Amino acid sequence: MGSMPEKPRHGFGSLVSGLQEVCESGVTKDLAWRRSQLKGLLRLLTEKEEEMFDVLRDDLGKHRAESYRDEIGALVKSVNHTLRNLGRWAAPEKAQAPLVSFPATALVVPEPLGVVLVFSCWNLPLGLALEPLSGALAAGNAVVVKPSELAPSTAAFLATNIPKYLDPRAVKVVLGGPEVGEQLMEHRWDKVLFTGSARIGRIILAKAAKHLTPVALELGSKCPCIVDRLDSKRDTQIAVNRIAGGKWSLCAGQACLAIDYVLVEEKFAPALIEVLKSTVKRFTATPECMARILNEKHFKRLSSYLKDRKVAASVVHGGSVNPKTLTIEPTILLNPPLDSDVMTEEIFGPILPIITVKKIEDSMKFVRSKPKPLAIYAFTRNEKLKSRIINETSSGSVTFNDAVVQYVVEGLPFGGVGQSGSGQYHGKYSFELFSNKKAVFKRSFLVEFMFRYPPWDNGKIGM
Ligand code: NAD
Repeated sequence: MGSMPEKPRHGFGSLVSGLQEVCESGVTKDLAWRRSQLKGLLRLLTEKEEEMFDVLRDDLGKHRAESYRDEIGALVKSVNHTLRNLGRWAAPEKAQAPLVSFPATALVVPEPLGVVLVFSCWNLPLGLALEPLSGALAAGNAVVVKPSELAPSTAAFLATNIPKYLDPRAVKVVLGGPEVGEQLMEHRWDKVLFTGSARIGRIILAKAAKHLTPVALELGSKCPCIVDRLDSKRDTQIAVNRIAGGKWSLCAGQACLAIDYVLVEEKFAPALIEVLKSTVKRFTATPECMARILNEKHFKRLSSYLKDRKVAASVVHGGSVNPKTLTIEPTILLNPPLDSDVMTEEIFGPILPIITVKKIEDSMKFVRSKPKPLAIYAFTRNEKLKSRIINETSSGSVTFNDAVVQYVVEGLPFGGVGQSGSGQYHGKYSFELFSNKKAVFKRSFLVEFMFRYPPWDNGKIGM
C-alpha cells in the first residue's frame, strides 16, 4: 500500500506553498509589477495617514509629529527613493572577464530569492514592517509580514490594509504572537528578516537551521554617546538637543538606535548635565510629546533598574515612576555602578546614565569592552578623535554630532554587527539583502587556449 501524503503538521503549509507557486509563475519578477507594489505602498501611506496616526497613538502614545518623522514620512521618502532607483539596481552589472577567456562577458544578475518572511517589532511597528517589505517587493519576492502582537492596533491596521493596497496573491500578513512565530519558522523560507531581541533571535536562528534558511537579524544593543568637551554654550546646547531628541523624543527611548548611555569627561559632566536637565524639561513639558512605556512588563523592567539602591543614589534628574499610568519620568543617572543591570542590559526606555571618564579618549576602551553596538554617537569638533572612533571601535554605524538621523539616509546601510545583528538593509542594501547576486559568465566558441588542458608541461597555468 502506498504511503499517505503527510498531513501538514503546522498551519501555514498552504500559505507558503501558495506563495511559492506565485513566485514560480514569474509574476513577482516583473519590474512593472514591483513598481506597482511600491506605488501601492505609497498610496497606502498617503490615503491612510490619519488612521496610521491613530493606531500609533493607540499602541504607543506617539505624537503625530514623531509618527510622521520616524515612520510614515520616513517610509514615503524611502519608497520614493527605491522607485527612482529600482531600474538601476535591478540591471545586470558587468564584471571584468579574464583575458584567457577572451571573448567573454561576466555579469552579476540580481534575481529574487523567492518567499521571504519579515518579523517586525512593536516600537516602530509600521516602519519595521513596511521598510523591509518594500525592499523585499522591490527585489521581486513574495512576502509574509508577521507584525508584533505587542502593537495590536498597528498589526490589525496592516492586516486590513495591506491586502487592499498590495497584490494579495504575493503579500500576506499573519497575525499572532510567539506561538505563531514559531509555527511560521517550521517552514522553509528563502529569507527571514527578524527585528527584535537577541533572545528570540537565537530561537529564530535555531529554527532556521533545519531548512538552512538564511536569516538577517536586526537586534538591539547599548548605543553609546561620546560627548567631547564642547567649548561654546551654543555647541553644548545643540549637542544636548540632539542627545535629548535621540533619547526621550524617540519612542521614549524604546528604540534600537536610541542613545543608551553617555560617556563624558569628568570636568565637562556638570555643565552637560545642567543643559540636559533644562532641555529634557522643555522637551517633555507637554506630556503628549513623549511616547508611553509599552506595557506593564516593560514598566516593571525599567522601574526595577531604579530600585537598585546604588542606582537610585545616582539619580541626578527625574527618577519617579507611576505604576498606575505606567509612567517613568525622564531620568538622568550619574555614574551608576557599571555592574548594575542598567549598565549591563539594553535600557530601552527613558533612563539615561552618564558615565564619566578621565580623558575622552578613554571612552573608546569603554565602548570596546562591551558587545559591538548598533550605533555609536559622538559629539566633537576634534577630527583626530573622529578618526580614532571610526578606526578603533566597531558598530553598525557611527554618527558624529547628531543622533538617529543615519536611519533615514537611504544611501547608508542599516544593521548591526556581532551581537547587534547581521544583515543590512535600507535603500539599495534592502534590494541586495533580498536578492541573489547570480554570477553569469558567457563565453564564445571563437578562441580556444589548449594550454588549460592536459597533457601539461611543468609551467604554471595562469587564468
Ligand atoms: P521580541 O524579540 O520579543 O519580538 C519580535 C518579534 O518576534 C515579534 O514579531 C514577536 O511576535 C516574535 N516572536 C516572539 N517570540 C517568538 C518565538 N518564540 N518564535 C518566533 N517569533 C517570536 O521583541 P522585543 O524583545 O519586545 O524587542 C525589543 C528588542 O528589539 C530590543 O532589543 C531592540 O533593540 C530590538 N530592536 C531592534 C531593531 C533593529 O532594527 N535593530 C529595531 C527595533 C527593536
